[in-house]
Amino acid sequence: MKRPPLNRRLAEFGTTIFAEMAALAIRTGSINLGQGSPDVDGPEEVREAAVRALRDGRGNQYPPGPGVPELRAAVCAHQQRWYGLEYDPDREVLITAGATEALAASLIALLEPGDEVVALEPYYDSYAAGIAMAGGTRVPVTLRPDPEAGRYRLDVDELRDAVTDNTRLILLNTPHNPTGTVLTREELAAIATIAIERDLYVVTDEVYEHLVFDDHKHIPLASLPGMRERTVTISSAGKTFSFTGWKVGWVTAPPDLLAAVRSAKQYLTFVASGPFQHAIAEALTLPDSYYAGLRDELAVKRDLLADGLATAGFTVFRPAGTYFITTDIRPLGPEISADGDGLAFCRGLPERCGLVAVPNQFFYDNREAGAPFVRFAFCKRMSVLEEAVDRLKQLTP
Ligand SMILES: *Cc1c(COP(=O)(O)O)cnc(C)c1O
Repeated sequence: MKRPPLNRRLAEFGTTIFAEMAALAIRTGSINLGQGSPDVDGPEEVREAAVRALRDGRGNQYPPGPGVPELRAAVCAHQQRWYGLEYDPDREVLITAGATEALAASLIALLEPGDEVVALEPYYDSYAAGIAMAGGTRVPVTLRPDPEAGRYRLDVDELRDAVTDNTRLILLNTPHNPTGTVLTREELAAIATIAIERDLYVVTDEVYEHLVFDDHKHIPLASLPGMRERTVTISSAGKTFSFTGWKVGWVTAPPDLLAAVRSAKQYLTFVASGPFQHAIAEALTLPDSYYAGLRDELAVKRDLLADGLATAGFTVFRPAGTYFITTDIRPLGPEISADGDGLAFCRGLPERCGLVAVPNQFFYDNREAGAPFVRFAFCKRMSVLEEAVDRLKQLTP
């Protein structure tokens, strides 16, 4: 017998929960709040910039491997403008096919088979697959809900205990998908202390850096003392500018780390998104009012959906950042919540009220810890969210 086509490293990643839930939404005509893509495109002038680049023949042929110079300069200017971080556009910046490729290239570049990666779970689904493709071993540290604080938080002792002599790097995500947590300065300082003590690299996924609400603040790990030289920072235009299909991402890191990531990246896509790179270079120069407008608009949407979910009976972890709301379904009772099983709950949700959400358990190794949590996205038009909130009223008659 031939062995199955998919290799053992990837066997557990056959299909994603998003595919199942998207198909369910279409089959049942439900509103899909499972998928995290905006239903309205980003700024018109950025779209026009892409059209201009196409017409002017900028980026229609292979752009330079590290990314077009205008975009690398714009990424450096962005890190300086928002965080006071200085990077050299020629040696410390790499443009990638979205944050996803940046993550994959970083893991493939930095890991030897058997190296351990300490990652905060629940995690974005490409992390586990990326670690597996690189031959690494993932070691989850579970973010725990703190009902009093209304947020998920990091248990620093758990993180410290997860590090072994085989740990190569810590993989972070802040603002955090799916919990909406923005790691605090104290949490980041504790991570930094452990990384320095144990001489670890940190790969930090900051794609939601501009989607932060109220008085919360995104703090890049690289801005903490002693961290710039060991941190690979990843971001992307997809979430910041609402062009998730363009797949323009970037890495900033010190020269030795950046060179390593570039070595892996050049054999993944080599280059991608030529004309869009030029458009995003322009997008990054938008005034502060663009970023404030995006935040304010999303905060209103967050409040609308969070209030609707709370009224329907969910425990809501009101997110400090990202465009996701994680809920605990158990207060809905054993029948509606399927005994607190998020997957069964999500499979039944279209029939109950015409909505689709995503069960967080798929973002955990420790499935049980994630079982009762379900994620809803609020990066949708107001009319869609209003209709969703209306439908939620049918959930608990
Ligand atoms: C959306 C998302 C990504 C992927 O970003 P792309 O630029 O589309 O590849 C990476 N990490 C997290 C946490 C995300 O939510």
